[in-house]
Amino acid sequence: MRLLVVEDDKDLNRQIFAALTRAGYAVDRAFDGEERWFLGDTEPYDAVVLDLGLPKKDGTSVLSEWRRAGRAMPVLILTARDRWSDKVQGFDAGADDYVAKPFHIVEILARLRALLRRAAGHATSELSCGPVHLDARTGRVAVNGNPVKLTSHETVVLFDASCGADRIAQ
Ligand code: CA
Repeated sequence: MRLLVVEDDKDLNRQIFAALTRAGYAVDRAFDGEERWFLGDTEPYDAVVLDLGLPKKDGTSVLSEWRRAGRAMPVLILTARDRWSDKVQGFDAGADDYVAKPFHIVEILARLRALLRRAAGHATSELSCGPVHLDARTGRVAVNGNPVKLTSHETVVLFDASCGADRIAQ
C-alpha cells in the first residue's frame, strides 16, 4: 500500500508520516499544493491524506483537478476545526472522508483503513440488478449483456429505476 501525505505543517507531516510508516505503509510526503498536485497526478497512490490549507495551491483546487483528471484514489482531507464550509467544499471537490484538527493520529489510521477497505471492495465490485449490470470500477454498464454508453447521471437514474438508489449508494 502506497500513500501520499500532503501537509505543510512540518511537525504534523512528520507525525502522520511516522505513524503510517509504523503501520506498514509506504509513504511519500509533500509540503505544498503544487508538489502535491504533481505527485498525485503522476504517481499511483492507494490513498492520500490531504490538508486543505496549503501554500501555493489550496487542497480543494488540487483535489478537484485530480478528480477531473480521473484520479480516483481515496482522499482523506484534514480540515481546520469548526470550518464546516471546508468540509462541504472538500466533499464537493471529491473527498472521501475528513478528519478535523486537532485529531488523534489513531483516527487517521482508522479512517484510512476504512477507505482502503472500501476502495478494495469497489475494485472488484460489480453490481447487477435485474437486466442491468454495472462494473463500479470502470463505470461500464450493460443491459441484458449488451454494453450501453451512459453518463454517470444516466447510470444513477437507470439503477434507481431498476433497483433503488440505495443499492449504489457508497
Ligand atoms: Ca495547513
